[in-house]
Amino acid sequence: MDTTLLPPREELVETMRRIYRYRMTTTSGGNLSILDPDGSIWITPSRVDKGSLQPSDVVRVLADGTREGLHPPSSEFPFHREIYRRRPDIKAIVHAHPGALVAFSICRQVPETRVQSHAHSVCGRVALAPYACPGTAELGEKIAATFAQDADCVLLENHGVVIGGRDLREAFQRFETLEFVAQTLIHAAPLGAVKVLPPAHLGVETMPEFGELPDVAPSNREKELRTAIPRFVHRAYQQRLLISTAGAFSARLEADTFLVTPRRRDRLELTAAGLVRATRTACERGRRPSRAALLHALIDARHPEVGAIINAQPAHASAFCMTAAPLSTRTIPESYIVLNEAPKLPFLRIVEDAERIASEVSLGRRPVVLIENEGALVLGRDVLDAFDRLEVLEATTEAILLARPLGPIVPMPDPAIAELRRVFKVE
Ligand SMILES: [Zn+2]
Repeated sequence: MDTTLLPPREELVETMRRIYRYRMTTTSGGNLSILDPDGSIWITPSRVDKGSLQPSDVVRVLADGTREGLHPPSSEFPFHREIYRRRPDIKAIVHAHPGALVAFSICRQVPETRVQSHAHSVCGRVALAPYACPGTAELGEKIAATFAQDADCVLLENHGVVIGGRDLREAFQRFETLEFVAQTLIHAAPLGAVKVLPPAHLGVETMPEFGELPDVAPSNREKELRTAIPRFVHRAYQQRLLISTAGAFSARLEADTFLVTPRRRDRLELTAAGLVRATRTACERGRRPSRAALLHALIDARHPEVGAIINAQPAHASAFCMTAAPLSTRTIPESYIVLNEAPKLPFLRIVEDAERIASEVSLGRRPVVLIENEGALVLGRDVLDAFDRLEVLEATTEAILLARPLGPIVPMPDPAIAELRRVFKVE
């Protein structure tokens, strides 16, 4: 659902439902608000179950302080009002206590977003505000003072996170992206020091140039793929293999034509019409394909057996992309058969280094590669095959990380690998 077209009450409720559904808040913690152009503030209520919030529960506090609604506003209303006063560019606020960000909050640390260029560009400046008692003017002053120093995301010591945006969608996307990068950093912590991108690779997002494809009526094959891809993208979102702001899917239509996810659109809102038909050099008129579209076109051109391609940054697999830790897929037969060796490549840029990346993959020997500080690149015969491979990659890396406190992992020995290669025809 495109929540930006909803009236404030509905947009707040849908966003809170999404935050709760994906376990980024508890029933009692967290509140959201929108600053109306007339100066009033729409805010979630105090002491109402976040799991069953209704539009009628939302409270409106007018500029003169009078309020409309069935409940008192959130007890954190004072800091929402103070942030809007100090930062006129902020028009919506998300506050919650999601697990990974609370972990950083109670260690009084700020997550390092320079580990992924998209996380760095989505989240903006992240800062830490000193502790104060919830609901007090003192807490409002401390948070707003931190926002006044141009922070976009503020971690609160021993509390949680407050995030601002030009609208609620932007605040939510920053919130989800920061929580996800925090989860990834926590998974990466036992693997060694994280690598950060140098300034030259941050804040620059080269977009490939595309001409215009002629308008043609969609074939039945195109209609089938336009139906299938959004289902897999939504499923990947639900399985936390991707988030609203990161991840690209494509599937081949004909030899040199494919459908690809659009650039900068919320992945959970992807529809059949939202997909972009593209080739190496052109795309549907007036549309913006994912930045990964050029890479996918180059892979399709080199590898006629590839039917679908995914770029994604799931949290466990990405932990290996941020550190020097090698990934061994010799854990269980499923991992080895589906992923093969899954090598790690040095940092390469999705657009500028697309030719080089395309030369490093193949459906047989290298259907999965991890790219340092970028994420996973996964190939498949079709969308299901690629999706399965992405899921197995994330499950494999999760199992390796879960095993660490138990003791050393015993990899499958060479004879067992040789037998798997022979029996399952692994190239
Ligand atoms: Zn709180």
